[in-house]
Amino acid sequence: MAMPTILIIEDEQELVRVLRSYLEQAGFNVLSALRGDTGLTTWESSKPDLVILDLNLPGIDGLDVARAIRRKADTPIIMLTARVEETDRLIGLELGADDYVTKPFSPREVVARVRAVLRRSGGEGRSTKLIRVYDLEIDLEAHSVVRDGKEIDLTPTEFVILETLAGQPGRVFSRLQLLETTQGSTYEGYERTIDAHIKNLRGKLELDPKNPRYVETVFGVGYRMPKP
Ligand code: CA
Repeated sequence: MAMPTILIIEDEQELVRVLRSYLEQAGFNVLSALRGDTGLTTWESSKPDLVILDLNLPGIDGLDVARAIRRKADTPIIMLTARVEETDRLIGLELGADDYVTKPFSPREVVARVRAVLRRSGGEGRSTKLIRVYDLEIDLEAHSVVRDGKEIDLTPTEFVILETLAGQPGRVFSRLQLLETTQGSTYEGYERTIDAHIKNLRGKLELDPKNPRYVETVFGVGYRMPKP
């Protein structure tokens, strides 16, 4: 089989250099562009097997690059995002990006994602809205959580809480914020109901609910999923 070609569109030269070296070592052909517009031109002329796309780019911004690619082809896209760019990331997934990696990331992780996305895109039907964090695979469309190939059965509320925490690892959410995501409206008196949901969620998710690994209590503030 021919070596898959990966196009990196990213304006941080050092990042491009590191990713290129890891991807080449992993056996990929690597092309790169430092701007959105030149990235798009390179994409058109080279038809890569996968695009690694930064969101903040000179020329054309990453979301517009993703849109332009999607208008013409279903080339798999992995987005590189900063944590503050949550909204952009969601828009990106809606636009049809296949996966995203949050900066700062390890190049190894990116290589693993590239392999996984290529595997999926070569196989039957691609899943387009996926959060992968630790060993969890959270499918936002199917509302499923899978670990080690086994589905973890969550209630819709537990799922939304997990989705929120996992969407921004490291960020602390107050009970009120979590309540808002689960109900769309807030009643301060019910903030503590979040504790009950978290307890159930831990019961299903954590190997040792007394020493939670995925959902951490931040005393006096709320909950967070620690950055992996
Ligand atoms: Ca950038």
